[in-house]
Amino acid sequence: MKITKAIACATAFATLALSSTVSLAAGYPERSITMIVPFSAGGPTDTVSRLVAEAMSKDLGQQIIIENVGGAGGTLGAGRVASAEGDGYTLLLHHIGMATSATLYRKLAYDTLNAFEYVGLVTEVPMTIVARKDMDAKDLKGLIDYAKAHKDTVTVANAGIGAASHLCGMLFMSAIQTPLVTVPYKGTGPAMTDLLGGQVDIMCDQTTNTTKQIQGGTIKAYAVTSPKRLDVLKDVPTAVEGGLAGFEVGIWHGIYAPKGTPKEATERLSKALQVALKDPNVAARFAELGTAPSSASDATPVALKAKLESEITRWKPVIEGAGQYAD
Ligand code: ASP
Repeated sequence: MKITKAIACATAFATLALSSTVSLAAGYPERSITMIVPFSAGGPTDTVSRLVAEAMSKDLGQQIIIENVGGAGGTLGAGRVASAEGDGYTLLLHHIGMATSATLYRKLAYDTLNAFEYVGLVTEVPMTIVARKDMDAKDLKGLIDYAKAHKDTVTVANAGIGAASHLCGMLFMSAIQTPLVTVPYKGTGPAMTDLLGGQVDIMCDQTTNTTKQIQGGTIKAYAVTSPKRLDVLKDVPTAVEGGLAGFEVGIWHGIYAPKGTPKEATERLSKALQVALKDPNVAARFAELGTAPSSASDATPVALKAKLESEITRWKPVIEGAGQYAD
């Protein structure tokens, strides 16, 4: 009798547990969602996140609130999400650094390929090589000559080891075979403030942060890292045109959730992401900033997982070849 009662209780509990998972999926989301941006407010990852989060919120009927957790090239914010509960209410919007930091860091607080669930790809963004407004160099060749001649004093801003600006700066230094002085920030929002003020000399950063400043003449642009010139920056040559053979860097963004987040939640979020990327306001702002939204088939868990895996494989030998690691 007792055993039968215990079995009945266990069955009732299992049914309850099952139905509570189902009801999470059915009513999801029932409250606001936090999206961690692993860089400072006002920078390019933040800009992309706020645009997309606003449009996703409309579709979800719940607010996505951005929280900026900058530091250590994006790995602090990613670590925060890796250790959060997988309940569908914490997300991470990160970029290519999710892949490069897997090799760059000898020790990470999380296992990149096993600590997250995937929502989808968001956008691809080119980088720009820019300098303070009063930089004398007329073109990319002139900038390279200047950097080589002043290698002990010329400063290159970045958002820490693992950031896209760090990767691009590292590739630039390796291409010109000259190590330069790097200045890390918690994001390229504050780095841009210092570039505008002339406290740092050079930066390689996403067009989402630099296009308006270049167009306004408040910083100088020397190259875009895309294979072709951009419509919004027609006068800026590609790095290859400027003399850096093979210098192409494209930054991609993706949305992740902590491991264990129910599939129903990541699929619902992926649908909201697809709707957001078709939003005319998002599309117009992306176009103004020289970036393009991911296609509906890329804004999916399966596409982001494949992208992350292939990018880890792609950058591993490059980073190992450069011999740059962080502890
Ligand atoms: N653009 C930055 C990077 O270098 C990060 C940011 O502030 O969005 O990765």
